[in-house]
Amino acid sequence: MSLGPVEPSRRMRGSGLLHGFFEPCVLLLLSESQVPAHGYRLLARLTSWGVGSAADRGNLYRLLHRLERDGLIRSTRQAGHGGPERRAYLLTAAGRATLARWEDVLERDRAALDDFLRRARKQPRYRGEGRIKVTYVITEPCIGVKDASCVAVCPVDCIYSTNDDEQYYINPDECIDCGACEPECPVNAIFAEDEVPTQWQNFIQINADYFKDR
Ligand code: SF4
Ligand code: SF4
Repeated sequence: MSLGPVEPSRRMRGSGLLHGFFEPCVLLLLSESQVPAHGYRLLARLTSWGVGSAADRGNLYRLLHRLERDGLIRSTRQAGHGGPERRAYLLTAAGRATLARWEDVLERDRAALDDFLRRARKQPRYRGEGRIKVTYVITEPCIGVKDASCVAVCPVDCIYSTNDDEQYYINPDECIDCGACEPECPVNAIFAEDEVPTQWQNFIQINADYFKDR
């Protein structure tokens, strides 16, 4: 069975992370526009913003139709360049008021998203073929110091070493990710896995490998 990345869920494809987010983005773009904006121009700006894609053309026109029906935008017809007339869109006063309400909603949602990311990033990671879970990691500065300050505070006794080992190691299967050891280290050798400095990234594997056959 492959442990590689799985296909994103259907909700994560298409018009960005959150379908509802399309509406405030369109309202914001229209509020920034000094002149009536064409649908294709809006889609180009949404795409370069990373909120939409060319595949969202239908979604965008349906949304514009609904926003106009609800009085949040209005359209005018403008001559095309040698082609048929095209609709161009303007924000109404009601649209501006709705945009202001969206700001409040998104501010609240941002706090929830930040909390989600903070908690998700603390979850154990699974790397490669084997099940190698790493949370906190001891890195190079421990070598030659080994004063065991971290061992003294670990509530689950998951930091190990022998007299023959050059450093201490955290058992990733036992570490409960409490963070108590990190501030105790006099040489700043301990890091959460996702904060390990680039030059010591190999210590993520070194800590995990230490416990492989034990
Ligand atoms: S993070 Fe907590 S549980 Fe993990 S090694 Fe440090 S003190 Fe022990
Ligand atoms: S506190 Fe730091 S230097 Fe001391 S044993 Fe733990 S990781 Fe090594």
